[in-house]
Amino acid sequence: MSEKFDLLKDYEKDVFTLKVMKERLPKDVYNSLLESIRSQAPLNQKIAGVVATAMKEWAIEKGATHYSHWFQPMTGLTAEKQESFVNFSDNREITLEFSAKELIQSEPDASSFPSGGIRATFEARGYTTWDPTSPAFVKGHVLTIPTAFASYSGEALDKKTPLLRSMQAINKEGSRLLKLIGEPEDTGVLSNCGAEQEYFLIDESVFGERIDLINTGRTLFGSPPAKGQELDDHYYGSIKERVADYMQDLDETLWKLGVASKTRHNEVAPAQHEIAPIYESVNAAADRNQIVMDTLKSVAKRHGMVALIHEKPFEGVNGSGKHCNWSLATTRGENIFEPGATPEENARFLLFLSAVIKAVDDYQDLLRLAVASAANDHRLGRAEAPPAIISIFLGDDVTEVLEGIRKGKKSTSRSVTKMDIGVDVLPKFSRDVTDRNRTSPFAFTGNKFEFRMVGSSQSISGPLFVLNTIVADALAGFADRLEKVKAKDVKDEIAAIIYETANKHERIIFNGNNYTDEWVSVAKKRGLLNLASTPDALSHYSDKKNVELFEKYGVLYPAEVKAREELKLEAYVTTLNIEALTMIEMAKRDIIPVVIEFSGSIANTIASLKGARASTKLETALLKEVSKYADKIGDDVVNLETALAKVGADWSTLKTAKHYRKNVLTAMNGLRDTADALEQIVDREYWPLPSYGELLLSVK
Ligand code: ADP
Ligand code: MG
Repeated sequence: MSEKFDLLKDYEKDVFTLKVMKERLPKDVYNSLLESIRSQAPLNQKIAGVVATAMKEWAIEKGATHYSHWFQPMTGLTAEKQESFVNFSDNREITLEFSAKELIQSEPDASSFPSGGIRATFEARGYTTWDPTSPAFVKGHVLTIPTAFASYSGEALDKKTPLLRSMQAINKEGSRLLKLIGEPEDTGVLSNCGAEQEYFLIDESVFGERIDLINTGRTLFGSPPAKGQELDDHYYGSIKERVADYMQDLDETLWKLGVASKTRHNEVAPAQHEIAPIYESVNAAADRNQIVMDTLKSVAKRHGMVALIHEKPFEGVNGSGKHCNWSLATTRGENIFEPGATPEENARFLLFLSAVIKAVDDYQDLLRLAVASAANDHRLGRAEAPPAIISIFLGDDVTEVLEGIRKGKKSTSRSVTKMDIGVDVLPKFSRDVTDRNRTSPFAFTGNKFEFRMVGSSQSISGPLFVLNTIVADALAGFADRLEKVKAKDVKDEIAAIIYETANKHERIIFNGNNYTDEWVSVAKKRGLLNLASTPDALSHYSDKKNVELFEKYGVLYPAEVKAREELKLEAYVTTLNIEALTMIEMAKRDIIPVVIEFSGSIANTIASLKGARASTKLETALLKEVSKYADKIGDDVVNLETALAKVGADWSTLKTAKHYRKNVLTAMNGLRDTADALEQIVDREYWPLPSYGELLLSVK
């Protein structure tokens, strides 16, 4: 954190922005580059050399010595391989080189990244390709170039490629529909996202004493503190000085990298905080959310703290999510989900709103599985985060408009529909009114949708490419219908589409409290999916309708769907396996020895008190209770080991994942319950791990 940070001057200081490009590139090169960025078209190869040289010179002025193709393998993390600019001339003098080829493409060793079977079927090689739509930046001494990562034969091996493809799909289908309802020929559709990121901060000293946090990012043991979040005094509470210093450093670091950090505040749980940037194109938003997650951790280190990005670091304390605010805009800069001032704009609003309603209902499974992970399973449906059931909150205003349309059509036919859709102005939906229901997984918040099931550590690319694709499909269906009618009947057809969608997909709309048991049974009656766990959700990835959908819009080909399903299942199993092994290690080497020692000390005390005191009732009762749990914890460890050993070598990944969910996780929970009960009765001096109280209040 520098004393002299100048927000106006230092913002985007380390980013190769359009402004920098304009200053440093010949006009024709700049225009050509701008055109490929705007239209997402491939770069004109002829200009790449000029761009590379300008980029290199700019980066070297910023202190860069290296460049790196930065990409997002299917692990959901980021990866890079740094190359220095160093080269030799013929007479072995040092030169600094960065060629067109080096800018555009690189070949990292693909075999060390997960491919979900794609590698076995196709070529082992993988390539990273420059994505000029997300700006390059200098971080430390490295010119960092956002890239997409694909196999030799073109299969996506990363999180970015399907997102870019989905942007094209929604642009294509969205502009087709816009044209049919009378908008200018050249109007394109852009998808935008603003991701609110939650995280915890703890002191590095307590972090270092917890193998579970070190190995898995979450506490595998720990009984709830006496003072939890019941008092709700942390949410939006005043920010401690140490945390405020951290947040300032964080913001300044992010601003320099072009992340438009806007909001920062304390969250519901003690030690929990949130940061949100200004929204932007989904692709840039996804890249920058990765920067946010990295920076949260690296800046914390500078401040002697650890940022926990895990979805559920502490049992019994609110977990962390990442609300993805998503909207569509025209290339003229209008937000399509903003109800307009004219009947035409309102028709557009209602049509696109209908597309979202239809898409979310038809593809509940895809939205659910896009956020599925072992970590997020601890959050969803725990009365702190949305349930695993997908529904849409529309708010009373919008629901009323749709109700009106539904009822209107019932009374008469054409004339009424015309009137309904020709309404002069829709009510201005006030955000304050629409944004109150925080329990909904998918909420309309006035002029955007907020997908709240995304986990705090997840890449937002997955949920966003699913969202773009399913909505593109609904828009395409509407466009197909409008294409078939005569020009004079277009208005009636629009009305019919909105009317039919409101009727057919009414079940997905729910404005009530999603945290109640009642909703679970109502949702069941409505026929909504309730995919409680990751394996349940993932088993739908390769359902015929989903494979066909992704293929139709060129977002994922069947082999790519299979690969992603396989990888997500593998990640689930691996996560639980590491957690289980860590628990066994901690139980055997930390907790059980302490329990033995503590029991021994009580027994000694009892022996030494004999005769000295009339009764050892207190000590005897305590020893009895400790012994009860001591026996149990031994059994629990064996149970967990047995569950792990059961996995057959010939089992499919899905079968293994289901076994982990059903048996391994249950055994883990059993072991944890016993250990947590012991924590509550064993002398504090003996207990080997910092308590929840010590962890959550470690940042003073
Ligand atoms: P909240 O009430 O949820 O805090 P905010 O207005 O603070 O709402 O927005 C939260 C996030 O939503 C921010 O990242 C913001 O930039 C983003 N956002 C606002 N408008 C849009 C939009 N039209 N499309 C996508 N994201 C948006
Ligand atoms: Mg929000």
